[in-house]
Amino acid sequence: MPSNNRVTYRRKHTYNTKSNRTKLVRTPGNRLVMQHIKKQAKGPKCGDCGDKLNGIPALRPVEYSRIARARRTVARAYGGSRCFGCVRTRIVRAFLIEEQKIVKKVLKASQK
Ligand SMILES: [Zn+2]
Repeated sequence: MPSNNRVTYRRKHTYNTKSNRTKLVRTPGNRLVMQHIKKQAKGPKCGDCGDKLNGIPALRPVEYSRIARARRTVARAYGGSRCFGCVRTRIVRAFLIEEQKIVKKVLKASQK
């Protein structure tokens, strides 16, 4: 095994930036090479509570354009944007507001 373990970038981008992270890998041929690491994907979050959205993979932005729409979203109102709990509270809230309006209308009619 050679003691000289100097390695070089394998692409032309040679700055130590966030998008140019690498790791050292020993190949089966016993060479030490740099491999480029993709940036960590965080995945979509609920727009109301900030929780991670279930059922949607955490990918880099461009990778979402390569997967099917069914894998990018959830088949529900606000699917892929708000979590189930926040959608439930929205629906309940809207329902109760509508009920309140009806009650007000009925009270007004009965007073006359
Ligand atoms: Zn939520």
